[in-house]
Amino acid sequence: MTVEVIVFVFIFGMLIGSFLNVVIYRLPEHQSIVSPGSHCPHCGKPIKPYDNIPLVSYIILRGRCRYCGNRISLRYPAVELITGLLAAGLFIKYGLTIDLMVFFILTAGLTAITFIDIDHGIIPNTLSYPGIIIGFASSFFVSINNPISSVIGMLTGAGILFVTAFTYKAVTGVEGMGMGDVKLMAAIGAFLGWEAAIFTVIISACIGALAGIALILFAGKGRRYAIPYGPFISLSAVVYLFYGHALISLYLRMIGYA
Ligand SMILES: [Zn+2]
Repeated sequence: MTVEVIVFVFIFGMLIGSFLNVVIYRLPEHQSIVSPGSHCPHCGKPIKPYDNIPLVSYIILRGRCRYCGNRISLRYPAVELITGLLAAGLFIKYGLTIDLMVFFILTAGLTAITFIDIDHGIIPNTLSYPGIIIGFASSFFVSINNPISSVIGMLTGAGILFVTAFTYKAVTGVEGMGMGDVKLMAAIGAFLGWEAAIFTVIISACIGALAGIALILFAGKGRRYAIPYGPFISLSAVVYLFYGHALISLYLRMIGYA
């Protein structure tokens, strides 16, 4: 594994990230993700290919449209950078394997879901349903999953979240988690198996609780904020892909089981 190959994978990841920006922007609006090509969100001028190089164009143009000079959101290069880092990180962790391909598809989907959920408070079925199917199909091939674990992961992950969402709504009368979160959890369980499903449920609850406390501390507790839960689920699944095994063994050693 040479540095050149890692850089190549990073650049490939950023190109996919550039495509994810289009998905994030257009999928919730039910627009085509193929045509028309990219255009400035302010003046509508088409963006030339040489102004559409991931990260590089943003830096050269100092985050402004070449034509109207309006600011382009930092979101675009951020998504490109995140996707590039995920591709390079997965490559370093899993090598040139089927695992790499499958987990990159998963993390690319999770990246799109994270930003769509932040923007719109929804997780599109057009992403979670194919995720469940591709996740199960891939379980025949990846090293850390198998079809039985995939089905158990799908059912336990979605089941725990469904019961939590149902109970929360019954007790508080407010919708905390939505069915979108339940379907996303089903997809992650299908992709990564039952250990990952339980890991993701627990870690996402911890991150969610911390975020909730931070919001109360820094934003005042008078208001009730609806925090999208999809980003926490997605982040937890990514943590599992990189550190899941190490964290689970550490935990088992701490409680004296291994
Ligand atoms: Zn413009």
